[in-house]
Amino acid sequence: MTIQFTTNDLESQWMPFTANKDFKQSPRLLVKADGMYYENHEGGRLLDGCAGLFCVAAGHGRKEVRDAIYTALEQLDYAPPFNTAHPLSFEAARKVARILPDHMNHVFFTNSGSESVDTALKIALAYHYARNDKMRTRFVGRQRAYHGVNFGGLSVSGMVKNKEVFGPGLPGVLHMRHTWSKDERFVAGQPETGADKAEDLQGFVDTYGAESIACCIVEPVAGSTGCLPPPKGYLQRLREICDANGILLIFDEVITGFGRMGTAFSDGVFGVKADIVTMAKALTNGTVAMGAVAVSDNVYETIISSGGPTAVEFFHGYTYSGSVPAAAACVAAMDIYEREDLFGNAAKMAGPFQEMVHSMKEFGLVTDIRSIGLLAGIDLSVDEKPGKRGYEVMKALYAAGLLVKLTGDCALLSPPLICNESHIDEMGTILRKTLASF
Ligand code: PLP
Repeated sequence: MTIQFTTNDLESQWMPFTANKDFKQSPRLLVKADGMYYENHEGGRLLDGCAGLFCVAAGHGRKEVRDAIYTALEQLDYAPPFNTAHPLSFEAARKVARILPDHMNHVFFTNSGSESVDTALKIALAYHYARNDKMRTRFVGRQRAYHGVNFGGLSVSGMVKNKEVFGPGLPGVLHMRHTWSKDERFVAGQPETGADKAEDLQGFVDTYGAESIACCIVEPVAGSTGCLPPPKGYLQRLREICDANGILLIFDEVITGFGRMGTAFSDGVFGVKADIVTMAKALTNGTVAMGAVAVSDNVYETIISSGGPTAVEFFHGYTYSGSVPAAAACVAAMDIYEREDLFGNAAKMAGPFQEMVHSMKEFGLVTDIRSIGLLAGIDLSVDEKPGKRGYEVMKALYAAGLLVKLTGDCALLSPPLICNESHIDEMGTILRKTLASF
């Protein structure tokens, strides 16, 4: 069966994070996908330069995932996740736990990255509550962070446009400075300088008292804001300050998780272990909405042992936590990642990919390029007002056959982990031709 799409009835849907009026004038509808490519409603072929939205790690149209979802649903459509469960969600948790850092063996399922972040913040509060350390209610986030759109995640986020019209958010949230520096532009990998920005956390300890701070949440590599790898030593220093002051460290790995940097999670690259890790996106290869929060054994044991034998330990959860189709998709995706060594392929392709991306430096409108693993951000100079040029470049790239993720005036690239050198060359050719036309 082929789904028929029409372009004359777009009005009913209010689209997320989209210029609705402009889109409906000239829509970009994706109607098919296979491997590294999309097809749009006009029959155009597009190279997927951003793995959908950082989520289709194993490439499009994976039969194994589709079959797993179908087979699971044939047998069981839904099982309530409170007080009952179904076997596949445990299987999914076990598969994810196998690739987590050694000290993490427990996974709580959600339905998105945003829900994972809010869940992680609540876990941090529940952990301190269980230890009778109930004054620890402050959250520390960072400028330019993206932690989703729900009120908890939004409060610790630091992207101005996302926060501007939504009021003050949660009380007691503090923001560290972001780590971008104009002196460290066009750097592949981690900047040499900037680890001192971690001292902002120490400053909050000195000002507000360690005993008031529950957790510090950061993306190991700030993703949506334009790919900001952490300065060398920065994450290590955050870890030290957290350890010295009883603060939980949360890594939001919604983008960096599942091989984007050539290892399962960021500890494999930076050698720093968090207490809590949030994830989503590639958890199901982008097929079914699913998020997850992994916790250290210490966090888990502390909360689980806080109540009596029949007590509910954590008053939190979602109707679709670990749903049947999501769990089935997750198991199938984890199997593909392992069987095809896709994290290994990401590590192998990172060099050619970053070399291609950094070759765009020659264009006058490119003001900075940053990269790590299979993730890169290309900053473009502002034209009249912020975001205008980025939007035009994104549309031009789409017309030329390359899908990128746009944030303001930054074009983000994060191809599926199945990519090879010819895909990278193709990406480079389209980028070069399009940037030259501006
Ligand atoms: N956290 C990070 C680091 C993200 O990059 C995103 C989405 O891009 C989210 C949270 C929110 O995820 P979702 O859109 O699934 O709610």
